[in-house]
Amino acid sequence: MEQPAVIDAVVVGAGFAGLVAARQLVEAGKDVLVLEARERVGGRTFVGTYPGTDVVVDWGAEWFDPERHHFMAAEVARYGARFAPADEEGAHRWFLDGTWADGDEPDALVDMDELERVLDHLRADIAPIVFAKGMDQPNAAELDIPFSEYLEKLGASEAISDLLRAQSYTLTGALPSEFSALVYLREIAGFDGDPAYTFFQSLARVDIGSGGLAERIAADLGNRIRLNEPVTAITQFEDRVEVVANGALYSARQVIVAAPLNTLGDIAFTPDLPPALGRLVDAGHTGRCVKVWAKLSNLPVASTLGWPGIAEATIKRRIHEDGQEKAIVAAFGLQPDLTVDRVDLLQAGLDRMELGATVDEVQGHDWIADPYSQGTWLATRPGQAADFAHLETHWGSIHLAGADFAQVWSGWVDGAIESGLEAGNAALAELG
Ligand SMILES: Cc1cc2nc3c(=O)[nH]c(=O)nc-3n(C[C@H](O)[C@H](O)[C@H](O)COP(=O)(O)OP(=O)(O)OC[C@H]3O[C@@H](n4cnc5c(N)ncnc54)[C@H](O)[C@@H]3O)c2cc1C
Repeated sequence: MEQPAVIDAVVVGAGFAGLVAARQLVEAGKDVLVLEARERVGGRTFVGTYPGTDVVVDWGAEWFDPERHHFMAAEVARYGARFAPADEEGAHRWFLDGTWADGDEPDALVDMDELERVLDHLRADIAPIVFAKGMDQPNAAELDIPFSEYLEKLGASEAISDLLRAQSYTLTGALPSEFSALVYLREIAGFDGDPAYTFFQSLARVDIGSGGLAERIAADLGNRIRLNEPVTAITQFEDRVEVVANGALYSARQVIVAAPLNTLGDIAFTPDLPPALGRLVDAGHTGRCVKVWAKLSNLPVASTLGWPGIAEATIKRRIHEDGQEKAIVAAFGLQPDLTVDRVDLLQAGLDRMELGATVDEVQGHDWIADPYSQGTWLATRPGQAADFAHLETHWGSIHLAGADFAQVWSGWVDGAIESGLEAGNAALAELG
């Protein structure tokens, strides 16, 4: 391969983390190239419109909390976008322990005194958690167990257990036996420590879609971004780092790796990754949510929360078609109960809740099969807390960035931005 000129920095991945890291460097006058594997920017944010309508659709990240996600709020303001209500208002349906009920509270299905006792137990476990300290928590050893095991210890009724399974699923997008109770309890700590807050919490979306915001950041970087360039090897030398993509060689003084945790195993690092990161890459995280967008007729409620099957469904917009009202809905579940291309699976899930709605069609992006995400958002496995707490995000001339590696809002776009800015600053400090 031809020996290229050594530039200041190469950034691997044009998701939010890579984009803001590159922008930091460009603003400081550095010579930067972003190598992106896909044919588009944005990574796990991806905007479109629901086919045949003008409804803005986030195939990936959609919900944000403007009060808590300060980095996201700053980007929204910077690019003249706005936060808008994410979901339509209306009645809720609960589906717990095989039965359903409508209402603001699940009081028709669960004993509310027992629920309060269970939530108090959760609150006591959450109290020592300092959200900003990531997985480095005083009670990590006790809580870094499968959530299903934690649930058994609570000894709650089946209906309350289903409620917690559904709610924890909305925060982790993973199976109760596969994610760590710590990641769930820490998420609640981020929402002021109140587990009840996150039942049917309605957050905001970005009016142009989070993917639309990523496109605006990318526009600032212009032709410094190269699409369709999957990086396959990164080799450190004393004075430079070499990066191989599509058979071409790039050379830089600093490299920022902003690809998802679950994809890093596809890049050959020389020397090997640092130990804690290497272990995390080998196991990967367990976020495996299926998010579908669907067009429904005759949906009697605005949202559902339940377990198993369709953990959550919410109306995004009501539209009129052929004189009939239809609902454009986003629904969340796990394979094999839900896939992005099977109307019958979503229909069966909704029928189980006796909604009487008809699914006209289903759309979605398969983030699990996608080689450049290999999963959805970060859900740590039991036993990974110590490695995440002591993660090496900088070794030699390489910096790691991304929501999967963020300390504060890990798994969220806000964390991707914070982590990207940190990596950009660290690379700048090295470049001088
Ligand atoms: C269905 C779904 C729903 C979500 N909902 C929310 C939500 O409501 N709110 C929220 O805040 N977050 C949500 N998230 C999570 C959020 O999208 C991610 O945490 C965040 O976007 C990750 O940003 P990132 O820059 O760290 O990584 P990514 O966005 O994954 O970007 C990494 C980039 O690296 C590229 N890449 C991968 N491998 C290579 C390679 N070998 N060479 C070059 N490039 C490579 C990828 O193509 C990608 O563009 C959701 C995610 C999904 C999938």
